[in-house]
Amino acid sequence: MSLAERDKKVIWHPYTQMKDAAPHIPIIRGEGVYLFDETGKRYIDAVSSWWVTIHGHSNPHIAAKVAAQLTTLEHVIFAGFTHEPAVQLAERLLPLLPGKQEKVFYSDNGSTAVEVAIKMCLQYWVNTTKQPRTKIIAFKEAYHGDTFGAMSVSGRSIFTDPFASLLFDVEFIDLPNEQNIEQLKSKINYLSNEVACFIFEPMVLGAGGMLMYEAQYLDQLIETCQKHGILTIADEVMTGFGRTGKYFSCEALNTRPDIFCLSKGLTGGTMPMGITTCNKKIFDAFWSDDKLKTLYHGHSFTANPVTCAASLASLDILLNPETLKNIQRVVAKHETFALRIKGHPKLKDVRQAGTILVMEWETGTDTSYLSGLRNQLYDYFLDRGIIMRPLGNIIYILAPYVISNEDLDYIYQAIIEALNDI
Ligand SMILES: *Cc1c(COP(=O)(O)O)cnc(C)c1O
Repeated sequence: MSLAERDKKVIWHPYTQMKDAAPHIPIIRGEGVYLFDETGKRYIDAVSSWWVTIHGHSNPHIAAKVAAQLTTLEHVIFAGFTHEPAVQLAERLLPLLPGKQEKVFYSDNGSTAVEVAIKMCLQYWVNTTKQPRTKIIAFKEAYHGDTFGAMSVSGRSIFTDPFASLLFDVEFIDLPNEQNIEQLKSKINYLSNEVACFIFEPMVLGAGGMLMYEAQYLDQLIETCQKHGILTIADEVMTGFGRTGKYFSCEALNTRPDIFCLSKGLTGGTMPMGITTCNKKIFDAFWSDDKLKTLYHGHSFTANPVTCAASLASLDILLNPETLKNIQRVVAKHETFALRIKGHPKLKDVRQAGTILVMEWETGTDTSYLSGLRNQLYDYFLDRGIIMRPLGNIIYILAPYVISNEDLDYIYQAIIEALNDI
């Protein structure tokens, strides 16, 4: 039996209708931007394997640090005990974040980083007032993860429909722009006394369709929130670690969020890990002689030393000047290509945020995530050895920063051909 056949017998894949799924492609090796299947076919990983692999596959520096950590201390309970990789990672990460972030709370993935952020905010109000605030503001097209709290603050969609009645109530707002910003601020002003926090993906909404909005409007929303003491959570799970051309997307803001959620690129995409950081204001609300004011949250693998070591190694690479040069090179290449295809009659929109280049296909009437166009595009690029995972009619390049100019040109050429053929 082939690996794909054995897989079909025992595995249930994520985000996959198993009945009509094409056989899953067995990958046996990864190197840099490339993945290799059983037959030796090479694929360019243009989506960084779900947006995580920022430095490319099987990075030798990360591998060496992980191997060394595995034979030194593979894990230890993180309540009552600590270790060098966790402390060092917090020491190195906190000063990199915009504003004054004070504390790191470890968890396992982006969704749990969001859960922790939401719980910090809700309990902040329980700990500090007699009439705790419980409302949360989020964007209509937001995506913050798949656990129940993260789903609740994500836009309602086909992903969340089966659970709709069980998701907690959230005040959803439109993405801000020149026309609606005053209206959005009025809405926040109106709800102010009930709102615990505002959670957002800064400037780029990932799974919602790689939607973008301007920093100046987010600044105005955050400022309005801060006027009313509403806490703010920047979900940088996708945008963090250089993706938007800066280390963190929020560097483009003048205001400073209270909380950051990080994951995806954190370990260089080698291992699952989530981080929620907070400022002193949040932390102080839990600092008490009253045991009830404790944040009772934790996971078995909180601050796993091996994933911390991977994150430290990934930070080494991120902070290497070579990486910044690569990021700037990718950004400039995307800019040039974007100019070339802007206004193409088959494209509704071309937009870019740093190393993310997005092309929205014209669809006529059918714009749904499940449209046939999505599968057509997916197969078209896969046939050409490029892994793209369109969000409905939206394709995007979100590649490891080490991608070569030649590979970028190859992807651009395939896009030009797709515009002719599809
Ligand atoms: C992917 C993502 C999450 C969820 O992260 P997981 O590790 O998949 O749970 C949360 N927020 C944003 C912005 C994301 O892109």
